[in-house]
Amino acid sequence: MPTDVPASAALFERAQAVTPGGVNSPVRAFNAVGGTPRFITSARGAWLTDADGRDYVDLIGSWGPMLLGHAHPEVQEAVQAAVARGTSYGTPTVPEVELAEEIVARTSVERVRFVSSGTEATMSAIRLARGFTGRDVVVKFAGCYHGHVDALLASAGSGLMTFALPGTPGVPASSTELTLVLPYNDRAAVEQVFAEHGERIACLVTEASPGNMGVVPPEPGFNAFLSEICRRHGALFVSDEVMTGFRVTRQGQWGLDGAVEGWAPDLVTFGKVMGGGFPAAAFGGRAEVMHHLAPEGPVYQAGTLSGNPIATTAGLTTLRLATDDVYAHLDRVATTIREAACAALTGAGVAHVAQSTGTMFSVFLTEGPVRDFDDASRTDTAAYAAFFHSMLDQGVYLPPSAYEAWFVSAAHDERAVQAVLDALPDAARAAAAAQQGSAA
Ligand SMILES: *Cc1c(COP(=O)(O)O)cnc(C)c1O
Repeated sequence: MPTDVPASAALFERAQAVTPGGVNSPVRAFNAVGGTPRFITSARGAWLTDADGRDYVDLIGSWGPMLLGHAHPEVQEAVQAAVARGTSYGTPTVPEVELAEEIVARTSVERVRFVSSGTEATMSAIRLARGFTGRDVVVKFAGCYHGHVDALLASAGSGLMTFALPGTPGVPASSTELTLVLPYNDRAAVEQVFAEHGERIACLVTEASPGNMGVVPPEPGFNAFLSEICRRHGALFVSDEVMTGFRVTRQGQWGLDGAVEGWAPDLVTFGKVMGGGFPAAAFGGRAEVMHHLAPEGPVYQAGTLSGNPIATTAGLTTLRLATDDVYAHLDRVATTIREAACAALTGAGVAHVAQSTGTMFSVFLTEGPVRDFDDASRTDTAAYAAFFHSMLDQGVYLPPSAYEAWFVSAAHDERAVQAVLDALPDAARAAAAAQQGSAA
C-alpha cells in the first residue's frame, strides 16, 4: 500500500516482526479503520508529532489520561524531581499518601488502594466484593469495558438469566460462568436478575457512564437505581470510573449523579487521569468494605510497583492542577468541537448523534439515541473510517475506532480547536461519499 508516512510505515514493519500486530494494545493497530498507525515521537500541549515530522491535534489524549495536555511543564518538573530521588523503593512513600488524600477529598471513597492499571483495579474490586459478601456472582452490562479481566471479558449467554460465555479464546468457561451480562440502561433486566439470583450476587459492576462503546450516558436516575437495588439485595455496587474519574467533572461521574442525589457506590475504580500519563490506577470505597483488604483484612491483593512514587507524583500534580477553571475550559472546547462535528455531518447529510457526559463525548454515525450496545453497534464503521482518515490527513488525530470517546485537554487552545473545525467539513463529506459508495 502506498503511504505518505514512510517512517511510520517502516517502523510498523519492524514492530510487526517482533510484536503481535506491531502494537502493545490492539486498537492502536488501526485494524478498524485501515492504514498505517502513526508512530508518535513527541507530544506537547494539544499536539502530537509523528516519526515523519507531521503534527496532529490530539483528540485521544492517550485514551483519557492527558487531561492537562502533553508535557505539562509543572507535571514534568515534578516528575523529573521525583526521578532524581530514585524511581521505586518498595516501601510506603509520601506522594502515595498525598494522592490518596486528594482522591478521598474529591470523591465518595473513604479508603483507596493503588494498583498499576485499570484492569488490576476492577479485578481487585471484584475479588474484594466477593470476599466481603461471601458470594460469587458478578453482574455487568454489554458494551461496558472494565479492562481485560477474565470474568469480565464475557458476552451475554442465550438468555437474560443464563450465565455468560467467554468473550475471547483463552478465557475458560469456568471464568465467566459466574458472570451475568445485561443490556445497559435496562431496569427491567436488572430487576429480573436480582429477583432470580439476588442472594448469590456479590456485586454489580458498571462503567459510571459508559465510554467504551462510544459515550452512552446512564439515563436519569439509572445509577441511583443500581445502587439501591444492590443495597436491597446485599450486593455491592461497583462503579468503574477509570475513564470518567477526574475527567467528566472534578469528581468524575459521581459529581453528576451520586453527589447530587445523595448516594455513594460501595466500591469505585479509577485510572487514566489519576496516573497523569504513568501506569497508576486505584480502587476504593467505603471504609467498612476496604477494611477487608490485606493487611487489615483477609482478602489478598498486592503489587510490586503499586503506588510507585513517579506515577503517584505525576497523578498528584495532575489532579492538583485540574481546577474548576480547567473543567470549565474542557467543557467549552468539548461543546465547540461536538457542535461543529454535528453541523458538518448534518451539512453532508450523514446520519449521526453526539452524546456526552460532562466533558466527555463521542459521535455515533447512526440515528440516535444510543442507549445500549445494540444501538451503538448500528454505527456506520465504514463511514467512520473515511471520516477518520480525512481528519488524519488534515492533521487531526481521532480515535481509530468508531466506538471511542473523543478526549480534549486543558491545552486545546484556539489554534488547536480551529484546526479541528477547519477539518470537519471535508471529513463529513468523505463519510457521506463512503456511504454513497457502499449504497451504490
Ligand atoms: C481503560 C479502562 C479500563 C482498563 O484500564 P487499563 O489501565 O487499560 O487496564 C477499565 N475500565 C474502564 C472504564 C476503562 O475505560
